[in-house]
Amino acid sequence: MRTEIAAPQQVSTGTLPGWDQVDAEVLAAHRRYAADTEGAVADYIPILGRVDPELFGIAVADTAGGRHSAGDVEVEFSIQSISKALVYAHVSQELGHRLVSERIGVDNTGLAFNSVMAIELNAGNPMNPMVNAGAMATTALVPGATAAEQWETVRTVLSEFAGRQLVLDGEVYHSEMQTNSRNRAIAQLLESYGRIEGDPLEVVDVYTRQCALRVTAQDLAIMGATLADGGVNPVTGRRVVSEESCRDTLAVLAATGMYERSGQWLFEIGIPAKSGVAGGILAVAPGKGGIGTFAPRLDPAGNSVRGQRAIKYLSRTLGLNLFASEPAGPALQTTADPAPRAATEQETA
Ligand code: GLU
Repeated sequence: MRTEIAAPQQVSTGTLPGWDQVDAEVLAAHRRYAADTEGAVADYIPILGRVDPELFGIAVADTAGGRHSAGDVEVEFSIQSISKALVYAHVSQELGHRLVSERIGVDNTGLAFNSVMAIELNAGNPMNPMVNAGAMATTALVPGATAAEQWETVRTVLSEFAGRQLVLDGEVYHSEMQTNSRNRAIAQLLESYGRIEGDPLEVVDVYTRQCALRVTAQDLAIMGATLADGGVNPVTGRRVVSEESCRDTLAVLAATGMYERSGQWLFEIGIPAKSGVAGGILAVAPGKGGIGTFAPRLDPAGNSVRGQRAIKYLSRTLGLNLFASEPAGPALQTTADPAPRAATEQETA
């Protein structure tokens, strides 16, 4: 039964606090976590293990094009899994809400990003576009007659999101191509289930290239601000994707963007986000702006430790959590009212 609603989409968003407060909180977040050394740099792609683990940058871009930053926001690193969100946004625009959700899915697998078992458990359904299986199935759907054309589209779309021409990191691409037998196996398994049409190894090649595009924390903030701004890049003023695909992409990120820790992330931080194994995180406060962080040490799920902590701090101090509300008017006192209490240390950590 079709239950689509034809009425125009209304939005439900607010604004960031004033310029000075955002500036001050970005600096405070950097100061607060600069000395944090928890986690380990990813090394399953050999070249990623050679990064300086001390690098740490936080950037915020608002939907009016304003920017705030602290630390290493101009250092380039490979975008890795964050590319999955942006390629998905484009494919979802080209193919539409229904088709993409049928072909790829939107639900968390509860398993690691490169799980083969997840594919087998779901009869070949990749489940969502943020795990490697779903991301490769998504890349396979990028319009283009050849893999070279698809790659050109991917690079152009991601560059439009960033507002500058992004460049492939050849070393990262080659390092990953020499060690990605697992991704090749996943793509071939998807082909066996009829989930990838065409040559699965060509899909792996385009996917590996998209992961090796170089970005900065500043770029991630602008990409996030584009997703926060109904698909228009607030710095260049150019439309990159449709409002509908923006909305759908953010829903997918909320459910699945932080690997198998997505529920925990939403519970603690309350905004859609996507992380990558090189240490980047892109987070989106719809209508308000984007946050980009870079810090290479990761937790066991593959999410940057300092990046997560910095975004949690900003979510609290800038009022970004999508689930937070306060009563519109005074509440009647009842005996069931809990006694007021101060926030615990855990809640503000
Ligand atoms: N290119 C990486 C892979 O396919 C991306 C992983 C990630 O950032 O989660 O393994």
